[in-house]
Amino acid sequence: MGTTIFTVMSSLAAEYKAINLGQGFPDFNMNEELTGLVAKAMQDGHNQYVHMAGYGPLREAIAAKVERLYGTTINAGDEVTITPGGTYAIYSSITAVINPGDEVILFEPAYDSYRPNIEINGGVPVIIKLQHPGYGIDWNEVRSKITARTRMIMLNSPHNPTGSVLGENDIEQLRSIVQDTHILILSDEVYEHLIFDSRQHLSLLKYPDLMERSFVCFSFGKTYHCTGWKLGYCIAPAGLTKEFRKVHQFNCFSCHTPSQVALASFLYNEESYLSVGPFLQKKKDYFQGLMGSTQLKPLPSYGSYFQLYSYDGLSDEKESDFAKRLVKEYGVATIPTSAFYSDGTDNKVLRFCFAKKEETLEMAVERLRELK
Ligand code: PMP
Ligand code: GLN
Repeated sequence: MGTTIFTVMSSLAAEYKAINLGQGFPDFNMNEELTGLVAKAMQDGHNQYVHMAGYGPLREAIAAKVERLYGTTINAGDEVTITPGGTYAIYSSITAVINPGDEVILFEPAYDSYRPNIEINGGVPVIIKLQHPGYGIDWNEVRSKITARTRMIMLNSPHNPTGSVLGENDIEQLRSIVQDTHILILSDEVYEHLIFDSRQHLSLLKYPDLMERSFVCFSFGKTYHCTGWKLGYCIAPAGLTKEFRKVHQFNCFSCHTPSQVALASFLYNEESYLSVGPFLQKKKDYFQGLMGSTQLKPLPSYGSYFQLYSYDGLSDEKESDFAKRLVKEYGVATIPTSAFYSDGTDNKVLRFCFAKKEETLEMAVERLRELK
């Protein structure tokens, strides 16, 4: 087991003083009202453990938000658990229900923690490739991979690293595949609000028949531009949440209290999350405009922090070699998309994070223009 590509590329970026468009984190400040609320929570004495499932008023605020956005009533008491980040919520969901020999369907390219999370629990990853260059799901292939041992299907929309998003047809196909089975779903929706071009995020929370078999995972770090907070949550029906909490109570137990207290009131500010999509779309469009002056060709991105760019025709190098050379010779760090495939599939595409200040994007593109 090697070191995660995010650490590899960020360390290389630091070593070569490169502009880091690799690992997904913003370089601009987060909302000051929210940081003020955290400071206030600390000063007001909210500095001890909260309930194992999370601060009650925050779970209530999440339930109210889900009702507002997706029209679904969830129970804050036994269906919401606050976690130290989305990655942890995913790990805990898998650990709660995957036993040795259970098959888990996942789509690649995939966020790099998914497969190790399955394997450490003795599960068997059943990998299906998204169809390059649109990165849609071939549902017939999914059907052909279902067996009596299929325990879970993992989904991620908006998708890291490609920026693809699920549509109504995907939901219909998923529904027809899982009905009358015991298959569970893990839906990674950490980029729920980071969605562009007037597309609607189709949360599994909108569909009662899918929700009843799903762990749906979120991250405040993504929504509020504070990836270092490592705070998120998992919504799942009571029976699954009970299993989830068996893992959670002996791993983390209770998350950072002052940020939960702050978010419990801040979450009622709808503008705070509804503005995130348009805000990031401007950055994506700005970056894409600048990148027009380079030899790199964009692939469409409809959500997330990321856009893929192809260097086909420019170099025959492997993505990982090309990405390393970009850092060392041009001073720009990216992520080779091959790192998100277990077989290292290499389509000559790199992932760029555009959640950066305009001047950062400008400086990076100035360097990338030199690429011949
Ligand atoms: N899923 C995906 C697809 C992600 O890109 C991230 C971001 N790291 C996460 C989950 C979880 O984020 P975090 O653990 O930082 O909340
Ligand atoms: N989600 C972020 C990314 O894909 C970072 C995650 C991490 O560093 N583990 O870049």
